[in-house]
This record gives sequence, structure tokens and C-alpha cells, in this order.
Amino acid sequence: MGERALRGVSAAPGVRSGRAFVLDRPLSRPLTGVAPAARTGELDRATRALQGAATELQDLATRLREAGRTPEADIVETGVLMAEDPSLIRRVESLVLESGLPADAALAGAAEEIALELANLEDPTLALRADDVRSLGRRASAHARGGDTTAAGGVLIARTLGPADVADLSATGVALAGGGVTAHAAIVARSLGIPMVVGLGPDVLEVEDGEEVVLDGDSGLLVRSPDANRMAAARADEVSRDTAREAAREHRLVPAETRDGRRIVVLGNAASVAEVIEAGQQGAEGVGLLRTELGFLEARDWPSYEQHIGFLGPILDRLSHQTATVRLLDFGGDKTPPFLKGAEGRGIELLLESPEAMRTQLRAIVASGTDTRLRILIPMVTSPDQVRAVHELLGSVLGGRRAPQVGSMIETPEAAQRAREIADVSDFLSIGTNDLTQLVLRLDREHSKSAPVTDVRVLRLIGETTQAARGAGIPVDVCGEAASDGVAMPILVGLGVDELSVAAARVGEVRRWIRELDFAACRDSAEGFIRSGRSRSS
Ligand code: PEP
Ligand code: MG
Repeated sequence: MGERALRGVSAAPGVRSGRAFVLDRPLSRPLTGVAPAARTGELDRATRALQGAATELQDLATRLREAGRTPEADIVETGVLMAEDPSLIRRVESLVLESGLPADAALAGAAEEIALELANLEDPTLALRADDVRSLGRRASAHARGGDTTAAGGVLIARTLGPADVADLSATGVALAGGGVTAHAAIVARSLGIPMVVGLGPDVLEVEDGEEVVLDGDSGLLVRSPDANRMAAARADEVSRDTAREAAREHRLVPAETRDGRRIVVLGNAASVAEVIEAGQQGAEGVGLLRTELGFLEARDWPSYEQHIGFLGPILDRLSHQTATVRLLDFGGDKTPPFLKGAEGRGIELLLESPEAMRTQLRAIVASGTDTRLRILIPMVTSPDQVRAVHELLGSVLGGRRAPQVGSMIETPEAAQRAREIADVSDFLSIGTNDLTQLVLRLDREHSKSAPVTDVRVLRLIGETTQAARGAGIPVDVCGEAASDGVAMPILVGLGVDELSVAAARVGEVRRWIRELDFAACRDSAEGFIRSGRSRSS
């Protein structure tokens, strides 16, 4: 059979070949049941599969805990508890012994029954557990079939994924039926250098587990039955990316300076120790955006002081004497934990409704970052009063320590319009082009298939923000994905940004691009765009 290509949208670059691991296969009930005499044996198989899944989850939780990823370990452990739930076990028994279903279908079916009940509950926290119990059912069912239960080394295929899933599942590539290029799952994939294609449609869920596929994150394709040439090209791409990474590591100490001498500070975006290590090896001068909320997406309540320390400690310990920009929890949108389900607002607006929660995080940041060049970043700022409120709370937790710098994210049209007022009460500004682009152009961030930051309406606001920062005498950085976009980045440099904070896997490449730029030319062409009102296609 010849190649069959499914077309989607590129969300993270790179080409990989590998075996497919399908997470969200539509549930198919077998037409022929298990003969009554064989049902007790079939139930034993189901029970062993459930135990196998629980043991695997426990091992994964232990590894996550050892890597300092306590919140994720906690989430995984809830799956272990679910595997012991008497109601799940009773349903599996009934589906095998009474209905005669084979072990894999009984496990998936019982999990689906519980998931549907949970999804219909009023309590939003419990409703969100529906996906967890489905995930356990999938894993146990795969055990019963004797199939692979991890995506390690393969191409993960699913309907949609959360940001934590991408990091946990250690796949070499990700293909989604739905999803969006600016959703946080895509950001994590880019950060870890995992190729990803989104928007492939439901046909992708028909791919067989174990089937050889090529995922082309550059062209937005998933290719079934790939021919020898395509497989060879995928392997060559992997080798060349590895080589580029090696080169980035070799040049890690060469400054990121344009040919005409404009120095740009390149920092890494991170939410895990792995990303901080990768960014550092590629020459990052620290972290420009630590997305703290990604550690607490499954939180049942505002994180405690100890939980914050558990998340921050291992990361900030790696940033001794370097810039460590810790963003306050940016909950809301596709980063809404169960306890905030239904809450309106995002970022600082939500935090200011719970000042004790913010105080707790500030205390933990100040305590964990003593050895770093600590900066605190406020998400989704819309007014200077919000920045003043953070300063005031910060003052109350310092206890004699030196105050860290406080910066404001400019990622809403309101903030860009009030950039000068906000700059006057901030120590630095950080432009969040992901949200800014979506909000200015009224796109849907979680499903949008493009992020045209080079639209002149967005560029004008970025230009006004850099001027506001210059007027206030403070530095300005860009920490959205545009900072590592080959078309947008030179324009941002031309508009006068001082720092770029980019996905860990992109640090070396962005530093190399800067060394090839001419600042005066970037400035002229950026000014030209804004004056002419034209948009660059990115
Ligand atoms: C942004 O909006 O550009 C940004 C960096 O914040 P996040 O992607 O975490 O929303
Ligand atoms: Mg944002």
C-alpha cells in the first residue's frame, strides 16, 4: 500500500519516524463474547492488567517525584488510587462475568461508565476526574491486550492533550486530532523539542497502535505507510537537529550580539528542571519566564507554601547567580485547575481576588530565589494599580531581604495602551506575544491554527510598548513564541527589545540568528512596516 498522509497544522518543528501509540481510540465493543466457562480466567486477566497499570503509574509517580516534579507525581498517584476503587473493580467483574466482555473491553468500558457518571456531576473537581479514570482504563486495557502502554520513543496520537501530558509521556512526536498551535500543550512540545502536529481530524484516531508512521512537524503531516525515502529523511532530520544542538552547546559562551554590536540577552522559558538544564546548555543567560502555574494545573486548592517550595526549589537551585524570572500563577483559560473551574478572569486579576494565595507564593519565591538574580513577573496586567498591589504585598513578605525586581507582562491590548503608566511602576516589561496576538486579532488561543504576530496591529502595540519602556528607562523583553520565530524575531529586535526569552530547545538557534543580524537594518525595516501599515507573513 502506498503512503497515506493526513494533513494538520504544524505546532512544533521537526520530523520523526516511530511507532504510533494511540491514546484515544474510539471504544469498540466486540461482537462475540467470552464463553461462560472461560470468564473466570478472563476476569483474572483483567485484574492482573489493572494491577499492572497501577504498578506502572506508581513507578512513573516515583520517577516524577525524584525529578522534583511533585505536583505531577501527585496527579499520577491519583490514578493508582482509582485502580483500587471497589466500584471500578465491581463493574469490571460484572462486564466480564455477566456480559461476557473480554478483559480489555471490560476495563475500558467500566472506566468509561464511571467517567460518564463523574462528568455529569455538579462538582467541577470531580467532573474533571473523568479524564483521569479514562486514562487509567486505557492503560489497563492496553495491558490486557499485551500492547505497549507507554509512548516512550514513539509518536503519541490523541484527541487533545494538556501541557502536563506532553511532558509526561516521553514521546518523540505528538499528533492530535484537535488542539491549537498556541495552546500550552504546543508550547511545552516546542520547549522540549518534541515535533507536534495539531488539527489532524478524527481520522488520525484510526491509526493502529504500533503502526510505523512519520510525523512531519514542519509541514503539518502524519504519514501512514511511509516509504523508505520518507523514513530516511525523518532519520536525517533527527540527526541534523542533534548536530545543531551540539553546535549550540559548543557556542554557548559566544555572546548573542548583532554584527553591528547590539547585544541581546537570550533567556529560556521553562516550567521544569529539564528545560532549565537544556536552556543553560544552549547558552541561555537564565530564565526569562518560569510558568509556575504549569506545576499546579491539577491543584485542588491554591498551592500551599510547601508546595510552592517543592516546585520552585529544584528549578531555582539550578540558576545560581543567573536571572530567574518567576511569573506569578497565571491561571485561567486553558490553564484552569479544578478548583477555579468557572472562575472568570485570568492571571493577576484572579490572584488579586485571593491576596493570601499571592502572599504565599511571593513568600516562597523570595525564600527560594536568594541565590539568583530574582525577578518577579506579573501575568495579564491591565492597569498600574495591579502592579502597585503586588509591590505592596511583596513588601510585606520580604522580612529584611533585598527586594527582587518586579516586571509586568504586556499581553493585553489594555496593557499595551497603558504601557507608559505601567512602565512607570515596573522594573521591566515583558511582552507576551501569544496572548497579545490572539486578543488583538480576536482569535481563539486554544484552537487557532495561526498566530500572526507580524500583523501590523500587533506590531504597532509592541512598538509602543518598547518606546514606553525606553521612556521609563527600563528594559523590555519578549517572552511569547514570536521571540523564536524567524520572521518576527528580527522585527522585534528592530523595535528595540533588549531581551528575548524563548523555548529551551530554541535558545541556541535564536542566539545564532542574532549573530547574523544587522541591527540598523532590522530597525529600518521594522519602522518601515509600522509606517506602511503592511503585515509580514510569518
Ligand atoms: C504570552 O502570552 O505570550 C506568554 C508568554 O504567556 P503564556 O503563553 O504563558 O500565556
Ligand atoms: Mg500569556
